Parts: sequence; structure tokens; C-alpha cells
Amino acid sequence: MANFDYLCNDMCALKLHIPSIMRRSSILIIYTGGTIGMKTDEATGALVPFDFSGIYDEFPSLKRLKVDIEVMTIKPPIDSSNVSVENWVHMARLIRDNYTAYDGFVILHGTDTMSYSAAALSFMLENLAKPVIFTGSQIPIGILRTDGRENFITAIEIAGARNEDGHPLVPEVALYFQNKLMRGNRTTKFSAEALNAFASFNYPALADVGVNIQYNHAAIAPYAPDFSDEFRISESMCDDVVVVKLFPGIRPATLRTLLLESGARGVVLETYGAGNAPTSEWFVDLVKEAVARGIIVVNVSQCKDGAVQMHLYETGLALQEAGVVSGHDMTIESAVAKLMYVLGKNLPLSEAVGLMRRPLRGEFTL
Ligand code: ASP
Repeated sequence: MANFDYLCNDMCALKLHIPSIMRRSSILIIYTGGTIGMKTDEATGALVPFDFSGIYDEFPSLKRLKVDIEVMTIKPPIDSSNVSVENWVHMARLIRDNYTAYDGFVILHGTDTMSYSAAALSFMLENLAKPVIFTGSQIPIGILRTDGRENFITAIEIAGARNEDGHPLVPEVALYFQNKLMRGNRTTKFSAEALNAFASFNYPALADVGVNIQYNHAAIAPYAPDFSDEFRISESMCDDVVVVKLFPGIRPATLRTLLLESGARGVVLETYGAGNAPTSEWFVDLVKEAVARGIIVVNVSQCKDGAVQMHLYETGLALQEAGVVSGHDMTIESAVAKLMYVLGKNLPLSEAVGLMRRPLRGEFTL
């Protein structure tokens, strides 16, 4: 089983051994924080994280699932607005260190940045052949009307689901929320209110959950048996990245600061519609200068639905001619994570641009 030696510092392990009568899946749950594990602080009335080891009492029905579960808690649990590259590396290492001991992984995460983390892990976990399912909740677990119970239990069931050959049904990083399983790097949190807070605008659901779990096998990454031996993680994520959201009236000095004076090696340019931007000389010149300096500029649309097509309008063509890379129908979250991952490899520029131009984990549609 897993080696928990290193847990004495910042982790705790809660082993929940459930008697087995047949080959059961074993799932590692990594609790990082977020609303799903929050309770009300009596003194202030604010939501504060609580020790996840108490969560088992909240879910006695876990005992009925045909899976063996172990829980690790990142100490201290965080509100996901505080998530950092270091936290991503920590999660990736936990998966690497426990990869052979478990059939699947469930990461409990705050919803605010869950799409960023799911995208980041999708790139950092190289040659992944097991399920890594992110989930969380909009209503704390301690509240009667919580959405966390269903999200949590179904995420575990999906992480443990295997076909008759014993292969995982979802061998990729995915996000489960409110009856939908989505590819992690295709998701966006679009609602601060609705219980179905996440959407995958440009890629179909990997599974729809009702009375039964209906897997959309055609949309799920194929199981690659050869990957098992070669699973590894990429730990170096380059954070010299900026996101520049265009708006009418943006000043040359503002754009110059963000593109050329911020120290960025990668820029996610949030453009209009199908990837359009102003054709003013000053604007195009600044973008050209950034590209000439070896900064990778990726064009992602402010529209959630649909794709960048720089050849459609003169206003997009100017960017294409300036050497801007198309982000196609990628989310902002995924573009940020992918740039960090690709730049972290410190490849020659042409190779890095080559990686940005093709989908690595199904993050965009060609
Ligand atoms: N602020 C919380 C977080 O992202 C919100 C949530 O989990 O829903 O950690």
C-alpha cells in the first residue's frame, strides 16, 4: 500500500478499510480545502476550513461503495483562491508517489480555481492512465442542502469505474460537478450562485449522471496501457505569464507595460469574438515587438463558446501575421496552465511554440 512516511510533516492519512468480497477499486482522496470541507466559525460567522478527517462522519454511506478509500489532507487546507504553483506540484507529487497503489484519485478542491488546477494537473501528469477526478461544492458539507455529498460520492464512483478488462473508464484528469463529468482542462466556473457552477462550453460531457452514469466513451481519452510504466510528472511550471484582456480604450502604455515590461515569457491575449483585436498601428506593433522578443502570445477569445479563427477578419489576420499563436477553443484557465507547463520545459522557442500549436491533452479542438 501507499507509503505515508512523509506525511508526518504536512499531511495526515486517514485509512478507511472497507471489507472486500471481490476485486474492488482503491481510491486515494486528496482533500485540499474549499467549501466542500468548510464549517461555520461560531465566533465570526465566516466559513473556515476544517480538518477533513471529520468528513467520514458526514458520509456514512461511503461504506456502501464498492471501493477502498484512503484520505489525505493537505495541511493546512486552503481556500482555492490561495492556490499556488507549489500546491499544484504538491498534488502532482502525491499522485506520483501513490500512483501504483491506487486505481484512481479524487481531488477535493475549492471551486473558485478548480478549473485552473484541473487544467494544470492535466498537463503536469504526463502519460496518465488512471482517473484523477476533481470535485468540490457550492454549499458547505456541514449544511443540510449541500451539493457536496452527491458530487463527492459520484466522483469516487467514477474514479473507481472500470470496464470488464479492468481498465479505468476515465483515464484522464476530469472534473465532476452537478451531474456532469467534464474534461478538466475544458472547464470554466461560470456561476457563483448556481449549483451547476461549471461548464465545458466547447467539449461534450464525458459522462451525464442521472439514475445511472452514462459514459460518453467517444469523448473520453482512450486508455493507453503503455502509459502505466511511463507515468511521470512535470514539476517545473513557469509563472512568467500574464493574461491581457482587451477592452475598447485600452491605452498603448498599459499594453506596453503588460506585454513588454512585465517580464512575461508567455501572454494569453483575451481577444474579441473569433479572435479579433484592434488593427491600430500602435497595437499591432506592440504585439509584433513582443513576438520578436520571443514572448509566446496566445490568442484566446473572451467568448466562452466557440473558437478563435484569426483568418476570418482583418482584425484577426493582423494578429496571425504578427506571429500570435491560435488558442482555438481553449479556455483561459487552460491557456494559462499550458503556457506555464510549456515554458517550464525551457525548450527552444520554436519547439515551445510547436507544443502550443497542437493539443497535448485534448485541451482544444483542431
Ligand atoms: N472560496 C471557495 C474556494 O474556492 C469556494 C468554493 O470552494 O466553492 O476555495
